[in-house]
Amino acid sequence: MTLPTLPTSIENIDPHRWDSFAPYFTALQEYPLTQQNVHEWLTYWSDLSRLVWETVTWVYIEKSLDTTDVEKEQTFLDLINHVMPPAEMADQALKERLLALEPADLGIPGMNLVLRNLRNEADLYREENIPLQTEVSKLDNEYDKITGAMQANWDDEEKNLSQLAVFLKDKNRDTRQKAWDVMSALWLGQRENLNQIYAKMLKLRQQIAANAGFSDYRAFAFRARGRFDYTPEDCAIFHNAIEAVAVPATRRILAKRRERLGYESIRPYDWIPERSLLVDTFDGAALQPYKNQDELIQGGLNMFNRLDVELGRYFATMAEEGLLDLDTRPGKALGGYCSTLTVRRRPFIFMNGTGMHDDVQTLLHEAGHAFHAFETVQLPLVWQMDAPMEFCEVASMSMELLAAPNLTQANGGFYTDTDAARARLEHLENIITFLPYMAVVDAFQHWVYTHPEEALDPANCDAAWDAQWQRFIPDMDWTGYEEVRRSGWHRKPHIFGTPFYYIEYGMASVGAMQVWRNGRQDHNAALAAYRHALSLGGTQTLPALFAAAGAEFRFDTPMLTELIGLVEQEIETLEAALA
Ligand SMILES: [Zn+2]
Repeated sequence: MTLPTLPTSIENIDPHRWDSFAPYFTALQEYPLTQQNVHEWLTYWSDLSRLVWETVTWVYIEKSLDTTDVEKEQTFLDLINHVMPPAEMADQALKERLLALEPADLGIPGMNLVLRNLRNEADLYREENIPLQTEVSKLDNEYDKITGAMQANWDDEEKNLSQLAVFLKDKNRDTRQKAWDVMSALWLGQRENLNQIYAKMLKLRQQIAANAGFSDYRAFAFRARGRFDYTPEDCAIFHNAIEAVAVPATRRILAKRRERLGYESIRPYDWIPERSLLVDTFDGAALQPYKNQDELIQGGLNMFNRLDVELGRYFATMAEEGLLDLDTRPGKALGGYCSTLTVRRRPFIFMNGTGMHDDVQTLLHEAGHAFHAFETVQLPLVWQMDAPMEFCEVASMSMELLAAPNLTQANGGFYTDTDAARARLEHLENIITFLPYMAVVDAFQHWVYTHPEEALDPANCDAAWDAQWQRFIPDMDWTGYEEVRRSGWHRKPHIFGTPFYYIEYGMASVGAMQVWRNGRQDHNAALAAYRHALSLGGTQTLPALFAAAGAEFRFDTPMLTELIGLVEQEIETLEAALA
């Protein structure tokens, strides 16, 4: 008995049909599995999983590149309706076979964690949840369509949210307010629809948790996200540390702004936490470092080459192979992401660049994810590559900090020394001001999923969001915009599509600040530790991955006091240089 040869690329795979994959799953399911051939069996399964994952990833990328293309959307829907459910069932059957065998030590790095994760997935699996998860995916697709279609006329041109958001950075406060008003009206115009989508999602998620034997969706989500190294209580410790350290540090940043600009108060169009936008106080227009995708790629390439020749080579490969789609276009889905094409063993970066400094920052971030993918391609089993999200964001956020010195033209970057200092100052301030917002998003969801009945009434969600907002972001004047503030949870796609996936950014930011702290002592050693930690993929626990990168997996008040103190010191140094 032999296993059928797998396709070497997804090129000829029909993503609409389960038949494209079924014969391989069947063959593997029927193939004898013993302690002697388990390695071979696992390798085949891993290669088959690479095909499925890359197909899903590619179809998702194509859909997000053009949300108005009905054919691309149909392919995505066919895939989640007709291919993913049987694929998950077939996968579950293979997991059960492997776990029943209780394979002996295979000498594969991280195999104990791979088995732990597979056992966890197998434990949580319920066949009756598959159609419910499909329903949730469809609702999330609705959210994407609604927000992707939001557009308004601005100076005789139709502009989507990403394009309108450019004006939120304008020097002129009236322009910012006008953009804020236009965008707020678009969101409030969809308030009913978004409320309904979320309530439907909550019901489905509560049922999914109940089916898997959990009393609430939070307990289920912690397991489903593989959170073995921290608990909801640890999240609360982190929230408290943020309240104690990051909220007052943010207050100091805002006070300086008010003073320099002569404002009486900080208004919602001066600081937009969900977009990490804080009005800048420098003379001259907002930084506009590049005109088109080619310039952004060239600039990125120069920066990475200076940082590390091999990282530069990774980025050049992406440019050569068309794995970068960086400019915004009408119809393109919102946001930015980096996905891994598991068969090609290459990452793909998606962005909505508009020529601003934010896009450079996003590129550095997504490139960090891309480098993570490149560093793990030598790991033979696809599950070994799968690092925990909390650490994936250390890869990206550390890159933003490690590459920051290369923003200057002298070091290959886009800016004069003065403009680079501006950009770095803005970045460091964002690191601090992000934490209170992150805490709002996380604490809100802790409330939602432990109050499933109350949360079905959107007015209660508004009130719960508002309570967290007042706790962590108390220093703003929202007069006249109260409803926009209360419905702020609508404007964070994670809350709809990937519940609880957000504190990862906060934890990773604490990890990245430690990598940056180490780099100030010894840049080369910090970069080497960073690359080594990336290359471990998912073969180590979260605390061990942090340790490999030179960081502690700790989120308490003393930790934040040290790190935010260092960041504030650096801010003062940059301010002095600019004065
Ligand atoms: Zn990221």
